[in-house]
Formats: sequence, structure tokens, C-alpha cells
Amino acid sequence: MIAVPSPLRLRLSSGALVANWRWLAAQSRSAACGAAIKADAYGLGAREVMRHLAAAGCRDFFVATWAEAAALTPLPEGVSLSVFHGAGARDMIAARTLPARPVLGSLEQVARWREAGEGRPCDVMIDTGMNRLGLRVEETAGGALDGLSIETLLSHLASADEDSAQNARQLAVFREVRQAVPARRYSLANSAGICLGADYAFDLTRPGIALYGGIPRREAAGHIRQVAFPEARILQVREVRQGETVGYGATWTAPRDARVAIANMGYADGYLRCHAGSGGATWQGCALPLIGRVSMDLTAFDVSDAGAVEEGDWLTLDYDPPSTAARSGLSQYELLTGLGARFERAWV
Ligand SMILES: *Cc1c(COP(=O)(O)O)cnc(C)c1O
Repeated sequence: MIAVPSPLRLRLSSGALVANWRWLAAQSRSAACGAAIKADAYGLGAREVMRHLAAAGCRDFFVATWAEAAALTPLPEGVSLSVFHGAGARDMIAARTLPARPVLGSLEQVARWREAGEGRPCDVMIDTGMNRLGLRVEETAGGALDGLSIETLLSHLASADEDSAQNARQLAVFREVRQAVPARRYSLANSAGICLGADYAFDLTRPGIALYGGIPRREAAGHIRQVAFPEARILQVREVRQGETVGYGATWTAPRDARVAIANMGYADGYLRCHAGSGGATWQGCALPLIGRVSMDLTAFDVSDAGAVEEGDWLTLDYDPPSTAARSGLSQYELLTGLGARFERAWV
């Protein structure tokens, strides 16, 4: 095989990842702090994220599907893995063989696990107002969960990133459920939930986005560091004369003679068209505004003020999640999970 160097890389800072986890763990007080690593750790690479966080002391990991769990085996020593989507009929072989627990999310799944789970431990999701996955509170009554070996009883906050009255309502319901349903541990808070305060932490927190550089609420600003830095190589630098246009639809016209760098990256890489008009990059500290439309595999930047920039140089995209979300209209989650497979993930 020939080693083909990638013209796109996602520079990933393990130092920032671990620092973010430590801050979230400190905010979680006496609760353990886990990590949601579903969707390939929000696009950063679940195996590497798990390795770095396990080395830092994180013990509780969460994925969405059994395929994601299978891709992570063998697990690092001493860690536990839970699968949010639970034990569907088609999941049972995986659920009985892989070293992970289902998060049972319906009475059907509870019955299935009792029948075929061979007494193995499970987690259970209780719905306290999200109405997505989880047993309704009233379904936990009447011994519905008797006989299960419940490791973690979970619920999920719907509006923790907002100052919504729903947060306190969900907290109150979860406290009631906690009195009624025995489990070894109780877990409610995602990243934003951790920022709501120690009342929300219970025994175990489950941050995702904040580990990866997202700011879930203002309380985290100044504490959470950017982890993922997308970089693209310049394919060519061209001279564009005043009055000429660049790219599809001719949406950018050179106001003066300009130099334009064409970067090896586009919407097929998850760098979407909505970045046009506000996106940018840097080269050796110089700001390079994005110009024209984003194409499938190419994006143009104005490098008129960037001195000696040339073919083969790397551009670092402006991709700090909170500010990029604010200007693009995409969520911080979409910004990270959308980054495509052509980015080579490079941990530093
Ligand atoms: C994704 C997810 C998390 C992590 O949420 P963030 O907002 O990324 O911190 C926690 N719990 C559940 C059930 C999830 O689906």
C-alpha cells in the first residue's frame, strides 16, 4: 500500500480534552464524571477519546448503538460502557456478548432483558419530560423493574442549555423516581446539566459536547477549551483582478486586485455552505476571510493581506464551536459531528 498524505486534517488536542473533562469532573463534585462518546465521540474519534479519558481516570462511557460498542472492543482496563439505545429485538446477540450494558428504554425492552439477559446488569432510562426514550414514570410502579440488576438509573434533561423551568421540574421528578426505584447509581446531567449546579449531578454525570470544546451554557465559558482544529491544505494561490468573480454563482467580486487561496475542503467534508459570508481561516496568525460559495471539495479564501502564503501551506479554519455556531446558525453539535471522513484525525 502507498501511504497517501491527506490534504485535510483535524488537529485534536488531548491536553484540551483532558482539561475539559477535569473541569467537568470538578463541577460534578462527588459524582463520577463519565463521557458520552456516541457518534464517534462527536466526530473526533471514539477510540482515541476513550483512551485519553480512561488514562485520565474516566470510568463510564456511553455510546448510542451496539455497532458503536462493538467498534470499541476490547475496552481499556476497568472501564464501563453503556448503550443508550437499549436492547431492541435485533440487538440481543450483541447485548449478550459485548462488554457493555443496555440502557433499557421501554417496558418491552425491560421484558426482553428479563427474559434473555441472563441476569446481567443493565441501565434503565426514565423519561422525566423529554419524551424521546425511556419508561414513563408511572410505568416504573407496580414492580415493573423488580428482579433487574440496575447499575445506573438515568434520565435526560430536555432544556438544560436554557434557563427553563423544565429543568427544575425534571429534577423534582427524577428525585421522586430515585426514591422509588433501587439502582446502584443515579445519573441525570449532560454537559449543560453539570452547569446547572451540584443538585443535578447525583452519582454520575454524562457530558459530551463540553468535553469536545462546546460551551453548553455561559457558566462554562472561560473554562472549556477548543479541542478540534480543522486544517486544510492550499491547492493553489491565484491572482484575481479587480472586478472578476470567484466561484459558483459569482457571488464574490474582487473589489481590487486580490490573491485568493483555494483550499482542499468543502461541504462534502462537513464544511457547509452556510459558512459563506461569515467563515474564515488563519495562516500564521493572519485572518483570511472566506469568499464566495463553499463548493463540494473546494473553498476560497482572500489571502491578499497574508504575505508569502503559497501552495501546500495549511490553513486553520475558524472553528471554535460557540462562535462558529453563533455566526453560522448550526449547532455546536452539528459543527463537530458533521466533519467528514476525509479529515485525518491527528492527536497532539
Ligand atoms: C448525548 C447524550 C449526553 C451528552 O449530552 P451533551 O449535551 O453532549 O453533554 C448525555 N446523555 C444522553 C442520554 C445523551 O443522549
